[in-house]
Amino acid sequence: MAGNGSDDLLSIIIRSFAGQEDKVVFPYPSYMLYKTLAELQDSMACDVDFTEGYSLPENFLVKGAKVTFLANPNSPSGTMIPSQEISRIAAQIDGVLVIDEAYADFAEDNCLSLVGQHRNILILRTLSKSYSLAGIRLGFCIAQEHLIQGMMKVKDSYNVDRLSIAAVVAALDDQKSMKAHVEKIKETRLYLTKSLQEMGFFVYPSQTNFVLARCMKGVSAHTLYQALKSRKILVRYFNLRRLDDCLRITIGTREEIDILIQHLKELITTTQSKAMTACCP
Ligand SMILES: *Cc1c(COP(=O)(O)O)cnc(C)c1O
Repeated sequence: MAGNGSDDLLSIIIRSFAGQEDKVVFPYPSYMLYKTLAELQDSMACDVDFTEGYSLPENFLVKGAKVTFLANPNSPSGTMIPSQEISRIAAQIDGVLVIDEAYADFAEDNCLSLVGQHRNILILRTLSKSYSLAGIRLGFCIAQEHLIQGMMKVKDSYNVDRLSIAAVVAALDDQKSMKAHVEKIKETRLYLTKSLQEMGFFVYPSQTNFVLARCMKGVSAHTLYQALKSRKILVRYFNLRRLDDCLRITIGTREEIDILIQHLKELITTTQSKAMTACCP
Protein backbone atom coordinates (compact mmCIF):
# COMPACT_ATOMS: atom_id res chain seq x y z
CA MET A 1 0.00 0.00 0.00
CA ALA A 2 1.26 3.48 -0.81
CA GLY A 3 0.74 6.35 1.60
CA ASN A 4 1.10 10.11 1.87
CA GLY A 5 4.45 9.58 3.59
CA SER A 6 4.97 6.68 5.98
CA ASP A 7 3.37 8.83 8.70
CA ASP A 8 0.07 8.40 6.80
CA LEU A 9 0.60 4.62 6.81
CA LEU A 10 1.39 4.61 10.55
CA SER A 11 -1.91 6.37 11.13
CA ILE A 12 -3.77 3.90 8.87
CA ILE A 13 -2.15 0.99 10.72
CA ILE A 14 -3.11 2.20 14.19
CA ARG A 15 -6.70 2.89 13.09
CA SER A 16 -6.90 -0.54 11.43
CA PHE A 17 -5.48 -2.68 14.22
CA ALA A 18 -5.84 -0.88 17.59
CA GLY A 19 -9.00 0.18 19.37
CA GLN A 20 -9.87 1.84 22.66
CA GLU A 21 -7.77 0.48 25.56
CA ASP A 22 -5.90 -1.98 23.33
CA LYS A 23 -2.21 -2.26 24.12
CA VAL A 24 0.17 -0.56 21.67
CA VAL A 25 3.86 -1.26 22.33
CA PHE A 26 7.00 0.56 21.22
CA PRO A 27 10.51 0.98 22.61
CA TYR A 28 11.91 4.12 24.26
CA PRO A 29 13.59 6.26 23.07
CA SER A 30 12.30 5.96 19.53
CA TYR A 31 10.18 7.77 16.94
CA MET A 32 7.80 10.03 18.87
CA LEU A 33 4.76 9.58 16.61
CA TYR A 34 3.99 6.03 17.86
CA LYS A 35 2.92 7.33 21.26
CA THR A 36 0.90 10.23 19.81
CA LEU A 37 -0.99 7.88 17.47
CA ALA A 38 -1.72 5.40 20.27
CA GLU A 39 -3.09 8.22 22.43
CA LEU A 40 -5.23 9.62 19.59
CA GLN A 41 -6.77 6.17 19.24
CA ASP A 42 -7.43 6.01 23.02
CA SER A 43 -5.26 2.90 23.11
CA MET A 44 -2.97 1.99 25.99
CA ALA A 45 0.49 3.25 25.00
CA CYS A 46 3.15 0.93 26.50
CA ASP A 47 6.69 2.21 26.06
CA VAL A 48 9.43 -0.22 26.99
CA ASP A 49 12.97 1.03 27.57
CA PHE A 50 15.73 -0.11 25.26
CA THR A 51 18.68 -1.55 27.19
CA GLU A 52 21.72 0.71 27.71
CA GLY A 53 23.25 -0.72 24.54
CA TYR A 54 20.01 -0.25 22.56
CA SER A 55 19.09 -3.89 22.25
CA LEU A 56 15.54 -5.04 23.01
CA PRO A 57 14.75 -5.89 26.63
CA GLU A 58 12.98 -9.12 27.69
CA ASN A 59 9.73 -7.31 28.46
CA PHE A 60 9.38 -5.94 24.92
CA LEU A 61 6.93 -8.77 24.25
CA VAL A 62 3.76 -7.48 25.89
CA LYS A 63 0.98 -10.03 26.23
CA GLY A 64 -2.11 -9.14 24.23
CA ALA A 65 -0.51 -6.21 22.38
CA LYS A 66 -2.52 -5.40 19.25
CA VAL A 67 0.22 -3.35 17.61
CA THR A 68 3.98 -3.37 18.28
CA PHE A 69 6.07 -0.67 16.60
CA LEU A 70 9.81 -0.97 16.01
CA ALA A 71 11.83 1.61 14.09
CA ASN A 72 14.72 -0.42 12.70
CA PRO A 73 17.28 1.13 12.36
CA ASN A 74 16.06 3.21 15.29
CA SER A 75 15.78 6.96 15.54
CA PRO A 76 17.31 8.86 17.33
CA SER A 77 19.90 6.22 18.36
CA GLY A 78 20.79 5.06 14.83
CA THR A 79 21.20 1.52 16.20
CA MET A 80 19.73 -1.67 14.77
CA ILE A 81 18.20 -4.98 15.91
CA PRO A 82 19.27 -8.00 13.78
CA SER A 83 16.53 -9.39 11.49
CA GLN A 84 16.84 -12.88 13.03
CA GLU A 85 15.88 -11.49 16.41
CA ILE A 86 12.92 -9.66 14.87
CA SER A 87 11.76 -12.90 13.26
CA ARG A 88 11.78 -14.57 16.70
CA ILE A 89 9.75 -11.72 18.17
CA ALA A 90 7.20 -11.78 15.33
CA ALA A 91 6.59 -15.48 15.98
CA GLN A 92 5.93 -14.82 19.68
CA ILE A 93 3.53 -11.87 19.57
CA ASP A 94 -0.23 -12.04 19.05
CA GLY A 95 -0.81 -8.73 17.24
CA VAL A 96 0.88 -7.08 14.28
CA LEU A 97 4.55 -6.09 14.30
CA VAL A 98 5.29 -2.90 12.38
CA ILE A 99 8.93 -2.61 11.33
CA ASP A 100 9.51 1.01 10.37
CA GLU A 101 12.43 0.83 7.94
CA ALA A 102 12.74 4.55 7.13
CA TYR A 103 16.56 4.22 7.23
CA ALA A 104 16.96 0.72 5.73
CA ASP A 105 18.93 1.95 2.69
CA PHE A 106 21.70 3.15 5.02
CA ALA A 107 21.83 -0.19 6.88
CA GLU A 108 23.54 -3.55 6.43
CA ASP A 109 20.38 -5.60 7.05
CA ASN A 110 16.60 -5.33 6.67
CA CYS A 111 13.48 -7.40 7.28
CA LEU A 112 11.90 -7.53 3.80
CA SER A 113 12.37 -11.29 3.51
CA LEU A 114 10.38 -11.81 6.72
CA VAL A 115 7.12 -10.68 5.12
CA GLY A 116 6.68 -14.00 3.35
CA GLN A 117 7.29 -15.98 6.56
CA HIS A 118 5.14 -14.04 9.03
CA ARG A 119 1.43 -13.25 8.70
CA ASN A 120 1.73 -10.41 11.22
CA ILE A 121 4.67 -8.36 9.91
CA LEU A 122 4.24 -4.96 8.22
CA ILE A 123 7.28 -3.23 6.74
CA LEU A 124 7.30 0.53 6.18
CA ARG A 125 9.58 2.31 3.75
CA THR A 126 9.74 5.98 2.77
CA LEU A 127 11.14 8.15 -0.02
CA SER A 128 11.90 10.87 2.56
CA LYS A 129 15.36 9.78 3.65
CA SER A 130 17.59 7.86 1.21
CA TYR A 131 15.80 9.37 -1.83
CA SER A 132 15.82 12.94 -0.39
CA LEU A 133 12.12 13.39 -1.31
CA ALA A 134 10.59 14.30 2.07
CA GLY A 135 8.53 17.08 0.45
CA ILE A 136 6.97 14.72 -2.09
CA ARG A 137 5.26 12.73 0.72
CA LEU A 138 5.42 9.09 -0.23
CA GLY A 139 5.84 5.97 1.85
CA PHE A 140 4.86 2.38 1.24
CA CYS A 141 3.87 -0.62 3.30
CA ILE A 142 4.73 -4.23 2.45
CA ALA A 143 2.74 -6.99 4.16
CA GLN A 144 0.68 -10.08 3.38
CA GLU A 145 -2.56 -9.49 1.52
CA HIS A 146 -4.95 -10.06 4.43
CA LEU A 147 -3.35 -7.19 6.39
CA ILE A 148 -3.36 -4.81 3.42
CA GLN A 149 -7.03 -5.66 2.74
CA GLY A 150 -7.93 -4.59 6.28
CA MET A 151 -6.02 -1.34 5.85
CA MET A 152 -7.75 -0.62 2.51
CA LYS A 153 -11.01 -0.10 4.43
CA VAL A 154 -9.40 2.64 6.52
CA LYS A 155 -7.28 4.68 4.10
CA ASP A 156 -8.58 7.73 2.23
CA SER A 157 -9.63 6.81 -1.29
CA TYR A 158 -7.11 9.17 -2.88
CA ASN A 159 -4.28 9.41 -0.36
CA VAL A 160 -1.46 9.70 -2.92
CA ASP A 161 -1.57 12.31 -5.68
CA ARG A 162 -0.54 11.81 -9.27
CA LEU A 163 2.35 14.31 -9.24
CA SER A 164 3.98 12.46 -6.34
CA ILE A 165 3.52 9.15 -8.10
CA ALA A 166 5.26 10.51 -11.22
CA ALA A 167 8.20 11.81 -9.16
CA VAL A 168 8.50 8.62 -7.15
CA VAL A 169 8.39 6.30 -10.16
CA ALA A 170 11.26 8.30 -11.69
CA ALA A 171 13.22 8.20 -8.41
CA LEU A 172 12.72 4.44 -7.95
CA ASP A 173 13.82 3.85 -11.53
CA ASP A 174 17.11 5.56 -10.76
CA GLN A 175 18.54 3.22 -8.11
CA LYS A 176 22.06 4.20 -9.16
CA SER A 177 21.74 7.80 -7.94
CA MET A 178 20.18 6.79 -4.64
CA LYS A 179 22.90 4.20 -4.00
CA ALA A 180 25.66 6.68 -4.88
CA HIS A 181 24.23 9.20 -2.36
CA VAL A 182 23.92 6.51 0.29
CA GLU A 183 27.55 5.41 -0.22
CA LYS A 184 28.78 9.01 0.20
CA ILE A 185 26.70 9.43 3.34
CA LYS A 186 28.06 6.19 4.79
CA GLU A 187 31.65 7.32 4.13
CA THR A 188 31.00 10.68 5.77
CA ARG A 189 29.24 8.90 8.67
CA LEU A 190 32.41 6.91 9.35
CA TYR A 191 34.55 10.05 9.12
CA LEU A 192 32.27 11.99 11.51
CA THR A 193 32.10 9.06 13.93
CA LYS A 194 35.91 8.80 14.14
CA SER A 195 36.31 12.56 14.53
CA LEU A 196 33.73 12.70 17.33
CA GLN A 197 35.36 9.75 19.10
CA GLU A 198 38.76 11.47 18.91
CA MET A 199 37.20 14.51 20.59
CA GLY A 200 35.94 12.25 23.40
CA PHE A 201 32.28 11.78 22.46
CA PHE A 202 30.66 8.37 22.78
CA VAL A 203 29.06 7.61 19.40
CA TYR A 204 26.35 4.95 19.15
CA PRO A 205 27.00 2.62 16.17
CA SER A 206 24.87 4.11 13.39
CA GLN A 207 23.11 2.35 10.50
CA THR A 208 21.34 5.59 9.47
CA ASN A 209 22.08 9.00 7.94
CA PHE A 210 22.76 10.56 11.36
CA VAL A 211 24.74 9.77 14.48
CA LEU A 212 23.81 10.09 18.12
CA ALA A 213 26.78 11.36 20.12
CA ARG A 214 26.90 11.42 23.92
CA CYS A 215 28.89 14.28 25.43
CA MET A 216 31.92 13.72 27.61
CA LYS A 217 31.77 14.54 31.34
CA GLY A 218 31.69 18.27 32.06
CA VAL A 219 30.30 19.27 28.65
CA SER A 220 26.61 20.15 28.37
CA ALA A 221 24.85 18.94 25.24
CA HIS A 222 22.33 21.76 25.51
CA THR A 223 25.07 24.41 25.69
CA LEU A 224 26.79 22.89 22.65
CA TYR A 225 23.49 22.79 20.77
CA GLN A 226 22.81 26.47 21.48
CA ALA A 227 26.34 27.56 20.63
CA LEU A 228 26.23 25.66 17.33
CA LYS A 229 22.82 27.17 16.56
CA SER A 230 24.14 30.70 17.11
CA ARG A 231 26.80 29.83 14.52
CA LYS A 232 24.07 28.69 12.11
CA ILE A 233 24.81 24.97 12.52
CA LEU A 234 21.68 22.98 13.29
CA VAL A 235 21.91 19.70 15.17
CA ARG A 236 19.14 18.05 17.17
CA TYR A 237 18.91 18.28 20.95
CA PHE A 238 16.20 16.35 22.86
CA ASN A 239 15.26 17.51 26.33
CA LEU A 240 14.26 13.95 27.23
CA ARG A 241 15.32 11.20 29.58
CA ARG A 242 18.42 9.32 28.28
CA LEU A 243 18.89 11.87 25.48
CA ASP A 244 19.60 15.15 27.29
CA ASP A 245 23.37 14.52 27.26
CA CYS A 246 23.37 13.75 23.53
CA LEU A 247 23.32 15.47 20.16
CA ARG A 248 21.86 13.91 17.04
CA ILE A 249 23.83 15.02 14.03
CA THR A 250 22.60 14.49 10.48
CA ILE A 251 25.30 13.57 7.96
CA GLY A 252 25.68 16.50 5.59
CA THR A 253 28.25 16.96 2.85
CA ARG A 254 31.90 16.41 3.74
CA GLU A 255 32.38 20.22 3.69
CA GLU A 256 29.48 20.78 6.10
CA ILE A 257 30.78 18.10 8.45
CA ASP A 258 34.27 19.62 8.40
CA ILE A 259 32.80 22.98 9.44
CA LEU A 260 30.83 21.28 12.23
CA ILE A 261 33.94 19.46 13.50
CA GLN A 262 35.99 22.66 13.48
CA HIS A 263 33.37 24.53 15.54
CA LEU A 264 32.86 21.60 17.92
CA LYS A 265 36.62 21.42 18.62
CA GLU A 266 36.69 25.14 19.40
CA LEU A 267 33.63 24.97 21.63
CA ILE A 268 34.82 21.95 23.58
CA THR A 269 38.23 23.47 24.28
CA THR A 270 36.65 26.67 25.60
CA THR A 271 34.01 24.81 27.69
CA GLN A 272 36.62 22.51 29.17
CA SER A 273 39.06 25.31 30.00
CA LYS A 274 36.18 27.23 31.61
CA ALA A 275 35.29 24.14 33.65
CA MET A 276 38.95 23.86 34.67
CA THR A 277 39.09 27.43 35.93
CA ALA A 278 35.77 26.89 37.72
CA CYS A 279 37.09 23.96 39.72
CA CYS A 280 40.68 25.16 40.20
CA PRO A 281 40.65 28.97 40.27
C1 LIG B 1 11.19 10.11 8.84
C2 LIG B 1 10.54 8.98 9.51
C3 LIG B 1 9.20 8.64 9.26
C4 LIG B 1 8.28 9.49 8.40
O1 LIG B 1 8.58 9.50 7.10
P1 LIG B 1 7.60 10.16 6.05
O2 LIG B 1 7.55 9.17 4.95
O3 LIG B 1 8.26 11.45 5.65
O4 LIG B 1 6.25 10.40 6.69
C5 LIG B 1 8.68 7.53 9.89
N1 LIG B 1 9.41 6.79 10.75
C6 LIG B 1 10.69 7.09 11.03
C7 LIG B 1 11.45 6.23 11.98
C8 LIG B 1 11.29 8.21 10.43
O5 LIG B 1 12.55 8.52 10.75
